[in-house]
Amino acid sequence: MQQLLFATHNRNKASEIQKLLHDKYLIKTLDDIGITNDIAETGTTLIENARIKAHYLHSLNKTACFADDTGLEVDALNGAPGVYSARYAGEECNSSNNIDKLLHELQNVSNRSARFKTVIIYIDNNGMEHSFEGIVEGQIIKERRGSDGFGYDPIFVPNDSKGLTFAQLSTDEKNKISHRGKAIRKLVAFLSAQQ
Ligand code: IMP
Repeated sequence: MQQLLFATHNRNKASEIQKLLHDKYLIKTLDDIGITNDIAETGTTLIENARIKAHYLHSLNKTACFADDTGLEVDALNGAPGVYSARYAGEECNSSNNIDKLLHELQNVSNRSARFKTVIIYIDNNGMEHSFEGIVEGQIIKERRGSDGFGYDPIFVPNDSKGLTFAQLSTDEKNKISHRGKAIRKLVAFLSAQQ
């Protein structure tokens, strides 16, 4: 089976993608190949960060690899937190602080529309770069609902989920409509067409 390196330390993400690739490719994470440090995400856009991570990994291994980056864009905040979604409430923050900050910023704001966007950069065996994007549109609600998922899931209601937040959906239900699911399926379709 052909190996495919993924520039992440996140095992959940890796196994989610492995499921979609079936037995065509074997995903290896940074930890699987002995890279334990974090790759600094110094870009100012999702695509820049995904490129930084993918090219770093490719420079070390010279084989096919990919990286992803995701952000939540809130219209009333001119697209914030966007590329800074993971550290919206500061460097030492967690998901709970990030949600608190977002709800605070949106106090008394009636336009609650937002979207999650995922960008994937794949570098093939010849060093050629390919990009894939997945977007899910939705609304930021005023209070947390649901306990599954991570990040901003408890306050994000995707437009096609009958009013449920991402945190009220099972992982499979979320993957069917999510930003990451969409971007990954585009990558998988591309890889399948290569074989
Ligand atoms: P990453 O690029 O996938 O690490 O995502 C950056 C940040 O966006 C995460 O730390 C989360 O705060 C947020 N995020 C990404 N994907 C999701 C999701 O599916 N649900 C909720 N929050 C997410």
